[in-house]
Amino acid sequence: MRFVDEYRDPAVARALSAEIHALVADTGTVRIMEVCGGHTHAIYRHGLEDLLPPEIELVHGPGCPVCVIPMGRVDDAIAIAETGGVTLATFGDMMRVPGGRGSLLEAKARGADVRMVYSPLDALALARREPDRHVCFFAIGFETTAPATAITLRRAREEGAANFSVFCNHVLIEPPLRAILETPGLRVDAFVGPGHVSSVIGSDRYSFIPEEYGRPVVVSAFEPVDLLQAIAMLVRQRAEGRCEVENQYTRVVRPDGNPRALEAIAETMEERDDFEWRGVGVLPRSALRVREPFARWDAERLFTIPGARIEDPKACRCGEVLTGQIKPWECGVFGTACTPEQPLGTCMVSSEGACAAYFSYGRARRRREEAPVGA
Ligand code: SF4
Repeated sequence: MRFVDEYRDPAVARALSAEIHALVADTGTVRIMEVCGGHTHAIYRHGLEDLLPPEIELVHGPGCPVCVIPMGRVDDAIAIAETGGVTLATFGDMMRVPGGRGSLLEAKARGADVRMVYSPLDALALARREPDRHVCFFAIGFETTAPATAITLRRAREEGAANFSVFCNHVLIEPPLRAILETPGLRVDAFVGPGHVSSVIGSDRYSFIPEEYGRPVVVSAFEPVDLLQAIAMLVRQRAEGRCEVENQYTRVVRPDGNPRALEAIAETMEERDDFEWRGVGVLPRSALRVREPFARWDAERLFTIPGARIEDPKACRCGEVLTGQIKPWECGVFGTACTPEQPLGTCMVSSEGACAAYFSYGRARRRREEAPVGA
């Protein structure tokens, strides 16, 4: 297939749906976690849940880069932005994430210089254009976006940029997956592996899931036919008694990933043990910091950063949403005190957040209507 229409072909989607219906007759209920928030949005945008039999239950995973940022790191970014002569540059979604002292957008309204950029290289260009200011890039994202930050750090070194730094919040996909797999009473039978992350790290990196935890993985792309095919592949594995890593996204993902991107990350960043995940806590070796040879461009070495850990609001259940323990509509403030316009938690902010997906595509309304009276 070459064109996007082909990945949305209703006839192909119906055939895959029929195959899944036939396969579950042998397998029974299968709980499938789609790791990536991009998959969650594709599933609900295209109404794929309606093409699946009731035996397939979709569980949403931790793969939304904005959702996993804790309130304390937002406050750290605000502290940097409020430093005299500093411009904090970041992605648009990140500006709306609530911290203990409000969001970056609110800090901007109070007078801090916070600007939206589309890439770390844009932030470096901003530093070049405004030599009298120090531009700090608030870097977030999984292995997918870390290579762009790595290349920007290399570029900053080549240029000898004196007024640029990176506040590094890049996270890694394996530690949260292990944390989920080690949760007592885990009720996930199989995983749809993230497509974008896998284009960097490769599909082989998930082999620990079938080997150590006995769950199959299929790495998937993002179109409706892709996702239905990935689910069919998972159910077929179960029906045939297999448990392995398969790759549906062969047009982009290689078993060993992208060696040049991995090399750029390894040269500029290293694993850290102290990173807190929103609603999950500190996970060892789950994030990246800037390496010593690039210390000149490391905001955590250049600025005094509060580094405070801040409890999520009591009503916020983002941690449980991110680890697949509850569905977004089970959070008591979903759609009332927490909406995309006034988010209380991160999962409602991001274009990849599960709560935002449910809210945007009206799934919660239907679920609530289906729930028994008094539930
Ligand atoms: Fe978090 Fe809001 Fe979702 Fe509740 S509804 S889990 S507070 S994002």
